[in-house]
Amino acid sequence: MGVMVEPYDGVADPASVVLNRLHAWVQVRGIPPLFQKDEVVRDMAAWIGEVLGAEMYALGASGTSFVRVRAKLDVHKALTRVVGLHPEGSERMMFQVLYEKLPKLCDVCGLLGHRVEECEDGVHEQSAMQYGAWMRAPMEDWHPRSSGVRMREPLRENFRGGRGGGRGNGAADSRKRPPGATPPREGKAEAELPGS
Ligand SMILES: [Zn+2]
Repeated sequence: MGVMVEPYDGVADPASVVLNRLHAWVQVRGIPPLFQKDEVVRDMAAWIGEVLGAEMYALGASGTSFVRVRAKLDVHKALTRVVGLHPEGSERMMFQVLYEKLPKLCDVCGLLGHRVEECEDGVHEQSAMQYGAWMRAPMEDWHPRSSGVRMREPLRENFRGGRGGGRGNGAADSRKRPPGATPPREGKAEAELPGS
């Protein structure tokens, strides 16, 4: 089970705070080493959810290596099944996205929190089931070995570099993506950096 999180303003009755974000470990499989770079992974993983960090070279007990992303999932949106990459001058590549410790998932609408039997009247054609257990990472790979290579944190890097602005410059606000915003397809996730 992942961890449900929601900002709490300290005023509302905690019981009334709706939980709609889920922190989860997500595996992106098959990325060629050439593209296992911070900027590339960050942009691709933005389609999955807000990227909190990543292990660039995780190795599962099955012997498979993958990029492992810590992401904040929006539980009101269908889970992302694949992410793509289209390097200039080459064919588009698609990579499978697998989720660790996934809570119950609806095979029809791809949402977490209910099962296909609980979706609408519970009667669905097989062809409507576009999501499913195949999106779960194999359990043996849930605790992969890490090479220790992590995605760097652009915020801190920016502070270290002292590039203009200084700290306390609305950093917290600028990290938030407006609801429903499309993740960046091009350009860097550094769009979230303060002062940029
Ligand atoms: Zn459903």
